[in-house]
Formats: sequence, structure tokens, C-alpha cells
Amino acid sequence: MRKLFFIVMLIAAPSWAANPNILVSIKPLQLIVTSLTEGELAVDYLVSPNVSPHDYALRPSDVRAIREADLLIWVGDELEPFLSKPLSQTDTSQLALLDLPGLDLIDGDKGHEHHDHEGHHHDVDPHIWLGPSEARVIAAAITEKLISKMPETSEHLQQQLTRFNQHLDKLEQSISQQLAPVQQQGYFVFHDGYSYFERQFALNRLGEFTINPQRRPGAKSLLNIRQQLEQGKAKCIFAEPQFDGALLESISQHSGAKISMLDPLGISVNNNKDGYFELLQQLADAYSDCLSH
Ligand SMILES: [Zn+2]
Repeated sequence: MRKLFFIVMLIAAPSWAANPNILVSIKPLQLIVTSLTEGELAVDYLVSPNVSPHDYALRPSDVRAIREADLLIWVGDELEPFLSKPLSQTDTSQLALLDLPGLDLIDGDKGHEHHDHEGHHHDVDPHIWLGPSEARVIAAAITEKLISKMPETSEHLQQQLTRFNQHLDKLEQSISQQLAPVQQQGYFVFHDGYSYFERQFALNRLGEFTINPQRRPGAKSLLNIRQQLEQGKAKCIFAEPQFDGALLESISQHSGAKISMLDPLGISVNNNKDGYFELLQQLADAYSDCLSH
């Protein structure tokens, strides 16, 4: 009897014995993996959330970590151009999220941003982790990939995916209600990084200081923003912890617009199974607090 019980235990408990070494590019992806695995899998990220992935340069230790990983999850060339080359030089298995079928990608250049120095075209908005609809596609793909690495945990991971989606459904509803009263309020963001969130919750972004944060905003777009601010069209200007906000401070003076902060990478969010949902809730709170003033 006791022996039978022991065997049942072995079958029922998820086995994380042969834990694959999972590496992700940015912290929000770590939060999603942690949620999907209930925190039972240690996952490291490459780029600290204190800095922007847009202008990150790999260190030698990063290259080593990439080589040693069993799986690297990243967004894609449009967000982490620094990963293209090292990934082409290893046999580390990878999951590039922008390539997933089922994503309704937003055009990133809006026709007036040009090729960068390498001739690479920034033609899709890569900030897909901030959209709940996109997060569902990402979570399903990560789950599938984890199952291929750990087939013995398949049932457990499927259940976790279901829970993740249920949690996301609830959160999406409550954020919709939270943001409904401020949907008409205009604002500017520092860089065009929130389109998926803004599309989902129908927010009224008037513009951004820069599309590609590696470049300083152009004189023409600054003039345009200044004019709209003078006309009192914007309630808020959102800075970001990853970038110097001095320019935003100076341009907002005497405009009546408040400066607030949006953090797309979740610097202060704890890495636990609810972390990803906290990241979205923090964004929602930042929009609602500033826009309802
Ligand atoms: Zn960005």
C-alpha cells in the first residue's frame, strides 16, 4: 500500500529534475516564465531593467551565458539587435517572440522613421509584452517550448497556462474599468513603447518624443509637442526610468502637463508568479493616476 502511494506521488508531482537552463533577454519575459512555472524554474535575464534593451551592448559574461543556456527567449531583432550575432554563432535553442504566428503586430515606423546605421529597418513595434492579447500568444509559445524541453511536466505546465490566461482575463477586465474614465485624456510618452497596451485599453496618446530611443528627438517633433502642450492638449508627459528625463522636464515647464513615470520593464516588480500581472497593473496605475488629475 505504502509502495503504491509512493509511485502515485512520483507520477503526480511535477518533475523539475532535469531543469533546463533558461535565459531570457529582458525582465518581463522572466516574469512570464516565472508565472508559467510557478517560480519552480530559475530564469535569468540578460539586460538589467535599469537600462534600455534598445541600446544595450553585450558583455563577455553575457556571451558565455548565452552559450551555456539550453533555451534563450527573446523578443527579436527589432528590440534586441545585440543578440542577432551571438545567436547565429551558437547552437543554443532560441525562441524569438516576434516571429510567432498569431500576433497582431503594430507598425513601428509610421512612415517617418528611417533605416539605422546597419541598414536595419524598424518596421514593427517590438514591445509586445505590454499587450494582454500578445501576452497570451507569448505564454502559449513559451509553454509549448518548455514542454518540448521537459515533456514530463506537460500536464502541470498546461494547467499553469490555463491559470495564467484566467488571471490575465480578470486583470484585463479590471484595467479596462480603471482606465475607462481617462480614455479621452491626451498625453505624451518618451518613446513609442506602449502601443500594445494603449491599443488594448483605447488610450489617447498624442505622440512621443522619439520613436527610436537611441536617437535624440528631432527639432520638428519637439516643436510639434511644444505647440500641443501650449494649447493645453496634454494632461501628462510620461518619462521612463531607463532614460534621462531632463529634456521632458524643460519642455513641460509652464505647460500645465504633469510629468509622471511609465516603466515598461518592471524595475521594482518582484520576480514571483504574480510579477507579470503587477507589471501591467503598475502601468495602469501610472496612466490612471496622472490622467485623472
Ligand atoms: Zn522600447
